[in-house]
Amino acid sequence: MFKSTYLNDFYAKLSQRYHDQPEFLQAVEEFLTSMDMLVEKDPRIQKNAIIERIVEPERIIKFRVSWVDDAGNVQVNRAMRVQYNSAIGPYKGGIRFHHSVNESIMKFLGFEQTFKNSLTGLPMGGAKGGSDFDPSGKSDNEIMRFCQNYILELYRHIGPRMDVPAGDLGVGAREIGYMYGMYKRIQNEFSGTFTSKGIESGGSLGRAEATGYGLCYFVEEMLKAFKNDTFKDKRVIISGAGKVGSMAAEKVHELGGKVVGMSDISGVIRDENGIDLELIKTLAKTNSVVMDKYRAYHPEATFSPTTKDIWKIPCDIAMPCATQNEIYLDSAKELVSKGCWLVAEGANMPTTIEATKYFQDNHILFAPGKASNAGGVAVSGLEMTQNAMFLNWTFEEVDAKLHEIMKNIFRKCHEASMMYTGKPDDLVTGANIAGFIKVYQAMLQQGV
Ligand code: NDP
Repeated sequence: MFKSTYLNDFYAKLSQRYHDQPEFLQAVEEFLTSMDMLVEKDPRIQKNAIIERIVEPERIIKFRVSWVDDAGNVQVNRAMRVQYNSAIGPYKGGIRFHHSVNESIMKFLGFEQTFKNSLTGLPMGGAKGGSDFDPSGKSDNEIMRFCQNYILELYRHIGPRMDVPAGDLGVGAREIGYMYGMYKRIQNEFSGTFTSKGIESGGSLGRAEATGYGLCYFVEEMLKAFKNDTFKDKRVIISGAGKVGSMAAEKVHELGGKVVGMSDISGVIRDENGIDLELIKTLAKTNSVVMDKYRAYHPEATFSPTTKDIWKIPCDIAMPCATQNEIYLDSAKELVSKGCWLVAEGANMPTTIEATKYFQDNHILFAPGKASNAGGVAVSGLEMTQNAMFLNWTFEEVDAKLHEIMKNIFRKCHEASMMYTGKPDDLVTGANIAGFIKVYQAMLQQGV
């Protein structure tokens, strides 16, 4: 599988030990394919067991969350926090509330987060957390009670210099507000500690837009470097109409592209006039899913209840922004056959290894999520800075810094790709190596 015997032996043992953690193994395998050259060139990596150490989380905290629903029944959920790597800064990573949350998914996300945070250039280690609690269909009071009980355990493991959580799937400003409120009550200090907070609670302007906008800034750099082109008149499809997808759609539109397809869990809308983003925003205020309601306002659009049908829509650029493993090999083939020539991951690991390889073999420009969706955590880092300085920057200041960070991330990936593969556009290898090097050097400096 890998050229290096050392990596092959290591991965064989890892897959035996964690045979029941497919998402985690997938993320590690994807990362290790980029390590062959480095391991061969730099014997210190093997000598200091850097790969063995970087792949194991420093700590996993698991706990029970009991709470009372509106009917007075006691409910029990499982929760965890994976504190992955603190070599370059305090642990930092989102919290996910979704029925699918398990150790494999938390570990894959925390592992990727470590390199993503390193790529931003800001001092942030990697972490991820979550619970199998599903906020959809729950009342506001139920969500508040769950969040408060979640913090009653988690508070002892987090802090502004220790571990700084943020949002993710199922966790937005509302949930962060309830969690931060409880944390603050226990600690009796206004320390920040969470990012993606509401503006009035110490959040940063531009954080809500950051992941989606950052994704578009990264793609802009790719278009410039590889095609001498821009978003103008490009047909774009975006899966997921949540925090990442909706903001990416807004920026694509602003940069002159046309979003012709979007999806959420209810299905896929294709609208050749360009998706009506204002309508989606309005519908989202009162509905948890919106795509199945779109045609009532735009009968000329078409709807499919099958989410993967989005990859059948002809486009120039595809942005998977919903969840992990959305694009399997069959959908990758479909995309390429319909003319797509650039895929940029807004979600974490939305493309399987086989699908990624297919894109690369077919010379499709490919932006890996750990680089292209790093804008969210980058602005979370800026939120931490503002909290520490007791200052608020304007939206324009934050957005300008985000833009610069995304340009830098692209530059680092591009340069590492050139240096280690001789190819300018292998951004998967470029992101893995550029993200790894800073963490690796810090680990060497800090001893075993
Ligand atoms: P949200 O919960 O805000 O949005 C996710 C959206 O995707 C929802 O519209 C959801 O529908 C939809 N969805 C879920 N599964 C599918 C599917 N199979 N097909 C189509 N739509 C689907 O989450 P975020 O936007 O915050 O996160 C999306 C992804 O981006 C995740 O992988 C996350 O880890 C990653 N990410 C997020 C960052 C952030 O700043 N928020 C930063 C970096 C990465 P429904 O609500 O109906 O389930």
